[in-house]
Amino acid sequence: MSTSGEDSTLLDVDLRATVRRPGRDGDSADAEEPRPTGRAVDPAQARATRTLPEPAPLQSHGPARVVALCNQKGGVGKTTSTINLGAALTEYGRRVLLVDFDPQGALSVGLGIQPHQLDRTIYDVLMESSVTLDDVLLKTNVPGMDLVPSNIDLSAAEVQLVNEVAREQTLARALAPALPDYDLVLIDCQPSLGLLTVNALTAADGVIIPLECEFFSLRGVALLIDTIEKVRERLNPRLHIEGILATMYDSRTVHGREVFARVVEAFGDTVYDTVITRTVRFPETTVAGEPITTWAPSSSGALQYRNLAKEVLTR
Ligand code: ADP
Ligand code: MG
Repeated sequence: MSTSGEDSTLLDVDLRATVRRPGRDGDSADAEEPRPTGRAVDPAQARATRTLPEPAPLQSHGPARVVALCNQKGGVGKTTSTINLGAALTEYGRRVLLVDFDPQGALSVGLGIQPHQLDRTIYDVLMESSVTLDDVLLKTNVPGMDLVPSNIDLSAAEVQLVNEVAREQTLARALAPALPDYDLVLIDCQPSLGLLTVNALTAADGVIIPLECEFFSLRGVALLIDTIEKVRERLNPRLHIEGILATMYDSRTVHGREVFARVVEAFGDTVYDTVITRTVRFPETTVAGEPITTWAPSSSGALQYRNLAKEVLTR
């Protein structure tokens, strides 16, 4: 599905003004880190002032709130946020189920699982009524966090589901029996707005939109919000946007700061106070096959996802 080109929004147009062409002949006034501005305000720092309450401990668990992490653009931090938000939520005593809903299986890999070696995955739960979620569910190394894995088999579901009755509700039906056992279910969507993502949105109460703090990341957000609206109207009246999460933020570049400021200008309080900064620690965790909250527990990335967990529990 094309996400660029026609869906030129006001946001896109406005943002063009924030991109400075690198100057010729080393004209530093126009280079990437240009203009000594005098007041180097970091909008992310300036904004993160609200204090969040410590989440109250739970006496019992469930029924789960289902949240889809969705953006049809790849590489914006959906999978990273699913793993690390999930792990951070368990630190507040929440039981969490992660659903890998991308045929790439990156969520499964990020938790140390080799998805191509699995006989049964979410695909089998969707396509065969005899296979239940319990049959494919895996414990992760994070206590209180379970995983429904996926692998390349899931790519066939997109085609096969087309002929099913109530094809958009397939994931919702599959997840329903698990909801009483968890406090949150996080669905890691694939980078598209196709039938799998529509299934995730139909199963969800809310959507978190991870948004990379880069110029082009705002392209396509209008289309995503439009899709969310349509699913709400036609399939799932509960659906709402939980929040927009700025990811891969680099306060050292004027560009990153300006994109973030524009996002806040456009979406206001829908944007989480928590901003995820760009750090090599995240690619490291993928190799390690564990969340940053255990890989580097006192790193800024771990603290940021804990803060996000608090925000998610407060909203
Ligand atoms: P998506 O699921 O949206 O495709 P990922 O979460 O897989 O995106 O992230 C894409 C790549 O960027 C991965 O290699 C990941 O390790 C890396 N990454 C994610 N978040 C950050 C971050 N805050 N800083 C640096 N790298 C990141
Ligand atoms: Mg992903």
